[in-house]
Amino acid sequence: MASFTLHGIPVSRGIAIGRAHLLAPAALDVKHYLVSEEQVEAEVQRLQHALATVHKELQTIWSELPKDSPAELGAFIDVHALILSDPLIAETPLDIIRTRHYNAEWALVTQIDELSAQFDEIGDAYLRERKADIQQVGERVLKVLTGSAMSLDTLNRSDGATGHMIMVAHDISPADMLQFRDRAFSGFITDLGGQNSHTAIVARSLDIPAVVGMFNASALIEQDDWLIIDGDAGVVIIDPPSSVLDQYRDRQSKLLRDRKKLGKLKKTPAITRDGTEITLLANIEFPDDCAAAMEAGANGVGLFRSEFLFMGRAGHVNRLPTEDEQFESYRKAVVAMKGRPVTIRTLDIGADKPLDTAEQTALNPALGLRAIRYCLTEPQMFLAQLRAILRASAFGPIKLLIPMIAHAFEIDQTLALIEQAKAQLRDANKKFDPLIPVGAMIEIPAAALTLPLFVKRMDFLSIGTNDLIQYTLAIDRVDHEVAHLYNPLHPAILHLLSNTITLSEKAGIPVSVCGEMAGDPKLTRLLLGMGLREFSMHPTQILSVKQEIVNAELATLVPLTKKIMRAYEPAVIAEAVEQMRAI
Ligand code: PEP
Ligand code: MG
Repeated sequence: MASFTLHGIPVSRGIAIGRAHLLAPAALDVKHYLVSEEQVEAEVQRLQHALATVHKELQTIWSELPKDSPAELGAFIDVHALILSDPLIAETPLDIIRTRHYNAEWALVTQIDELSAQFDEIGDAYLRERKADIQQVGERVLKVLTGSAMSLDTLNRSDGATGHMIMVAHDISPADMLQFRDRAFSGFITDLGGQNSHTAIVARSLDIPAVVGMFNASALIEQDDWLIIDGDAGVVIIDPPSSVLDQYRDRQSKLLRDRKKLGKLKKTPAITRDGTEITLLANIEFPDDCAAAMEAGANGVGLFRSEFLFMGRAGHVNRLPTEDEQFESYRKAVVAMKGRPVTIRTLDIGADKPLDTAEQTALNPALGLRAIRYCLTEPQMFLAQLRAILRASAFGPIKLLIPMIAHAFEIDQTLALIEQAKAQLRDANKKFDPLIPVGAMIEIPAAALTLPLFVKRMDFLSIGTNDLIQYTLAIDRVDHEVAHLYNPLHPAILHLLSNTITLSEKAGIPVSVCGEMAGDPKLTRLLLGMGLREFSMHPTQILSVKQEIVNAELATLVPLTKKIMRAYEPAVIAEAVEQMRAI
């Protein structure tokens, strides 16, 4: 077959080379037949047995999770276990067998299709991803029913090249990906998914090259085809000629060598060649992620996305975590960081991160009642979170960070609520840090353009480039159809960033970047040239960014940055950024 190339959304970096292993969706090809009255109970039992087997499988995956796994991995399995025991999956298909006499597979697929259609009608991006979870659970049950459950032992035996297979699938569930890790697969390709899908998040946290959103790759790629995944470019090369294969093998070995070298930087301080010290912080979702932050040598946590404590709690008696539960999580984080500061962002719920309890009625949720806007409409809930954070501040240095704030009155109301929470704690004789620093996320263009309002009222600022880009360029960050317009080097973004950094510095208040730009080593020097001294990123990125810093010289970066800031042509900007990296 002739070589060809497919493009998708790069979600996890690196290069993988191997043979394709196609994971066919079990839902295709299920048998459809009617069972007789006498066979109905046997068919019901067959399905019940399959459901119970999958339940056990999930428990096994859960109990075998390595201690150092990212916390969200366990949460994903929980979601699948919850779906599995929901009556819509655990009971309705059994009723379908009893009433319509469908065979077990047909009954299950009918119900999954029905639920999927209901999700399609909602049309919300986050919920669409939940639909994928339901389908993945359904496929797991089908695999057991049809006896096609993939055994890892069989896989490992059938291909001597263990560790050199690339999984190609319409979609892969996070639980499946977990099972396969460290065993057979060195890369992942899926037709579905976006930057935000669970599978993408798991791939990134496991550090396995992956490209998603490939449309019909699973139909075009054949079993055992040779594949190259370029996880940085989002490119997959099918049946590459040997010259290309050799080229990528060289690149791959170089990457491995570079990674080994990077490990040596763990204890090296992040200081530029001309002696300026840079602070490198970690972005975390759960308190357990602090271990990875410490391991990478982070100077603290620059962004604790507290909303992850609030999401996926549909099965809990309390749909929201109580003040005490939250306090425990925040305390755990600050204790784990051993005196290094932990910046806790208050609830950033809404848009692609809805609360299970919140109704998604907004036509355009990214522009709707999100983050601080939502918190100000729910003062009791917000006060409980503020009290929990304040109480944890008695156990180590904590900073409070407010997301998506744009108006002076929002700042004033928020500060008033913080004072109210402090007063409540004083009345209850509870300890907290009375001088806890309060900062704002600069992630709405309106905020970046009215910095004097913020520097006057806030102790520090943190630039959320993910949303700043989304709102400045008017592109939904989870919509893959406009993903190509997502450009951190757009001059509008560069000006908002540079302006925010310069004005904060003039006002004498600390500013960091905590969006994905901060963890992209290709942009480190540009940000340094703009005057940025604090970067916050996923712990896996810290050493790559540190390497850029220790090799950089501010004296040469500053004039080059000025040149970039005068340019408007994309080609000129891109070339200057490249040039900056080469010096
Ligand atoms: C951002 O918007 O850049 C950010 C860091 O926050 P989130 O990605 O959680 O919206
Ligand atoms: Mg944001």
